[in-house]
Amino acid sequence: MRRKTKRKLIIIEILLVIILALIYQYFAEKKASLDPCISLYLHQQNTIITMNLEEYIKGVVTAEMPASFHIEALKAQAVCARTYAIKKLIEEHPYPQGADLSDDVNTCQAFAPLLDNDIADKKELAKRINEAVESTRGEIMLFDSQPIDALYCSTCGGKTESAGAVWGKEIDYLRSVKCDDCIASRHYKSSLTIDNSKINSLVNDNGNIANIKILEKTPSGRLKSLSVNGTKIDAVVFRKDLNLPSTWMEFQPAKYSTIINTHGYGHGVGLCQYGANGMAARDKTYRQILSKYYSGINFYKLEY
Ligand SMILES: [Zn+2]
Repeated sequence: MRRKTKRKLIIIEILLVIILALIYQYFAEKKASLDPCISLYLHQQNTIITMNLEEYIKGVVTAEMPASFHIEALKAQAVCARTYAIKKLIEEHPYPQGADLSDDVNTCQAFAPLLDNDIADKKELAKRINEAVESTRGEIMLFDSQPIDALYCSTCGGKTESAGAVWGKEIDYLRSVKCDDCIASRHYKSSLTIDNSKINSLVNDNGNIANIKILEKTPSGRLKSLSVNGTKIDAVVFRKDLNLPSTWMEFQPAKYSTIINTHGYGHGVGLCQYGANGMAARDKTYRQILSKYYSGINFYKLEY
């Protein structure tokens, strides 16, 4: 009789363990399924694909930062990508075909499926991106309880730019900060020689003598406007039309050409990606990195 009771108890115990395992699995699956589904417009294919938000973040990190970067820099990029996407989703930014987000860098973030990384050891690199995204799952940056506009650029060249200097409206968390950590970037300082005829064509002048004058600079030292042979031109337009790395530049006249020395690559606002990698190499965590480039922010974890 006693042996029978003992056996019964063991069976009940086993059943209980099985039920608990099933409940655990159910909630684990439920939790995973709560990861919001988003639709992404692929601008080159002119089509929409759908996926979970965290899968999308992995694709953005793959496309926006070299997977060989330090893991803390990749985590910082993951939090930026997620915050940027959440802000766009909340604002219901209108993308083609009614999509939630787009892979066009002119209006959103680049995207490449995780395994499409074209660097040699794909699996190892994909593993690192996976780790960076999963270890920061759901984490975003807030300012005044709102997701921030998490802008980022490749290389600031020594000092980031304030949002106000580029877009005319100051944003508290997007201030200009000094950055000594992006020196390893090949864009930290660059030099290009451009034919004067090409420069002059910007102001409809077909001569080969270019008289360039700097008219206005932003507080970080980047150019706001300049003149070519007496005609004023916006520095952003000058940069874009001549395909220059940034608006932080100096000019050196040469025979029928001009040497343009530039600092950094990109608009310079927000996180400096090479700076993030440099900080990570100095053992800074992703939160320390992000708190440097985005002033006064808080971190918040979305539960899904
Ligand atoms: Zn920098």
